[in-house]
Formats: sequence, structure tokens, C-alpha cells
Amino acid sequence: MRRLLPAVAAGLLFLLATPRLVAANTPVAGHDDRYPHATNAPPITLGFHFHTSVPAWAVTAVTNAWQNGWDDPDGNNSRIPKLSSGGGGTVYYQDRSGSPCTGDTNWIGCNPNTPGDRTGWAVYVRALPSDSAPSWMWFHRDATCADVRDDKYDTSVCFSIKRVVTHEMEHNTLTRSHDPQGGSASRDTVMNAVTPTRNGSPDTWNADSFLRCDEAGAMMEYGVVDRTLSYPDCFATVPGEGAKGLNTTLSVASASYSACANGSTVTVTGRLALQDDWPNYRYLADTPLAGRTINIYRKASGVSSFPTTPFTTATAGNANSGDNWSRSFSSTSAIAYDYKAVWTTSSGEPGLNSSNAATWSIRFQTAGCPLAAAK
Ligand SMILES: [Zn+2]
Repeated sequence: MRRLLPAVAAGLLFLLATPRLVAANTPVAGHDDRYPHATNAPPITLGFHFHTSVPAWAVTAVTNAWQNGWDDPDGNNSRIPKLSSGGGGTVYYQDRSGSPCTGDTNWIGCNPNTPGDRTGWAVYVRALPSDSAPSWMWFHRDATCADVRDDKYDTSVCFSIKRVVTHEMEHNTLTRSHDPQGGSASRDTVMNAVTPTRNGSPDTWNADSFLRCDEAGAMMEYGVVDRTLSYPDCFATVPGEGAKGLNTTLSVASASYSACANGSTVTVTGRLALQDDWPNYRYLADTPLAGRTINIYRKASGVSSFPTTPFTTATAGNANSGDNWSRSFSSTSAIAYDYKAVWTTSSGEPGLNSSNAATWSIRFQTAGCPLAAAK
């Protein structure tokens, strides 16, 4: 992450970044599972500790960001590695003009490329204000953008150390790229190359968790923790299917069932999940849509159309594979019914398209069946 001075910003951006078109609503650029893991396994935990150079206020702010903000399900419901104080990688706080990663003199944080390394990773944070950067300030030093200490610095711009270490940890765990979608005030990602200031980006300057397209990329690479929560609104271009981006599929185990018309039940089962379309969906493929309500419609066989009101509902469960919904049916009269089930999206599900309809029939019959008890 870099702090760019306005006078040199454009030139440096063009020097350092390959110009490219980036569509909005795209999972963060360059996403990759840098800490490989088994599909549907719980998140691994990366430890972290601080070099003796790090002041206490920074230890507190970084620890809060990584332990309380990083995996807050409001921003990050992915199975990207969790972070826990103790052991593991190292955080440094240094007054030096050139980035320890690239030599860039406009740096304020950096993360060397150590894919999959659980103990050797590092995050460097620049000491601010300092002799090498006398006009830049960390808000969290004194919980103010004002330089309230009686020191020699004349500060003019103010950054969040929580936001910067969130950005650097995303480099460590998810992507080596920067992502310009939405600009430095983006509400899509914290991975812009330019660090937003408190004045310039009042909504996101102090983000200590993912924005929606960071989360979308992390979900594609690591999977989903709580399958009952809604998906972020950032799949419209990748995988970019249907109106919202992620397709859902509803299945039923059989197209036809039969049961005795004596009140005994027949249980119909199936699966409601994200499309199982490897590799486009990566770790999201076939994720169960736990907690979603499936509407089931019924009509007598031979009647032309289903009523508009559901006959009943079923709720999808959390099984990683196989059937995750079921519903039992019975009748005390001999009749054949047709059923149609569908899951319908809503404004509360900005990433998910409605499912296909699944249909089946049940013939309730008396032949070969014991009689129902007389009443
Ligand atoms: Zn960066």
C-alpha cells in the first residue's frame, strides 16, 4: 500500500501498474488461495506477533483489526485464514524512506511475498510521523488526526493503521494485486494502491474488515463460513451468471413417487446449493444454501397450471453434499398430485439468482395397501 502525493500520483500509477480495464462488481483482482486448504475445512489460524519496534498504540490497533475486524461476518464470511495473537508472522514498525519490499519511497505499509508460509510472513508499517515522512500521520497514534504531541513534525494527512494492515493481510492471504475498481474511495475493495485519507474517504478510510469485492474473492478461494448469511453484492461479472452473478440449483431425488392413500407419509428429498460448476465457482461450487425457504406448489395431475400460492415449504440445511432438504406428504384419498419446488431470490440476496424449478409427482393409491383405520 502506498501513499501517493497528488503531484506525482498519476505518473507513478502509470509507471507501476499495467493499465487495464477493470469491470465493477468483480471479485478482487488476482484472488488466489495463498494458504491452501481442504474444501469445506474450517479456516486455518495464522498467528502474529510484534517486533519490539512497534509502539503500544499500534499493537492495540493492529491486534483489534486482525482479531476483531478481519473475520467479522458483517464484512468477511469467508474461510480465509483467521488471525490470532501469538507466534506466527511478524509485524514491524520502521522509519525508513524506502519500502523494505520494493524500495518505493511513498510506502506506508508492505508485505513480502511468502505464499503459504505460516510463520515467516511479515507486515511492515512505516513509522508516522517520522524523519522520513514528517507530514504523514497515523490516526490511531492519539485517536486524532491532529499532531497533539510536542514534537518537531508538521503533519497534514492522516491514515488508518487498521485499514493499512487489513490491506497488507489481504496481500498475504488472498492477492498480490492492487484493484482500482471504485477508486481510492472505493466501497468495493480495500486493495486500491493508494491509501485513502480520513478526509478523502470518510466511509472507508478506517475499514478493518473486507469490503464486498474483497469478501467475494475470499469466498471464491476459501469458501463460506456461515452458509445462512447472504452473499455480498459482487459477483455480477465473475462468475457473472444470470441477473445477479451466482446461479443456484434445486434438485429433487426422484421425479415420481407413490404412497398408500391411508395417511402414511412419503418423504421427498433434494438439494439446494450454488451451482456445482468447477472451476468457475472455485470453492463456492455446490455450497449449500442453508436456511433458505423453498416454496412447494401442488396441483392435481391433469390440471393445467399450479396455483400462485405455495402448498407448503421446506428449509434447506447445511450438508456439504447430498440431499439438504426434505418434505413429507400424505393423503387419505386416492389421487395423483404434481409438485413444483423453486427457491426465489429477493432484495436481501443481491448475489444469488433464483433457482430452476424441480418437479415431481406422487400417486396416492389404495391397491396393495392396508386400509386406513375406520373413524
Ligand atoms: Zn498493496
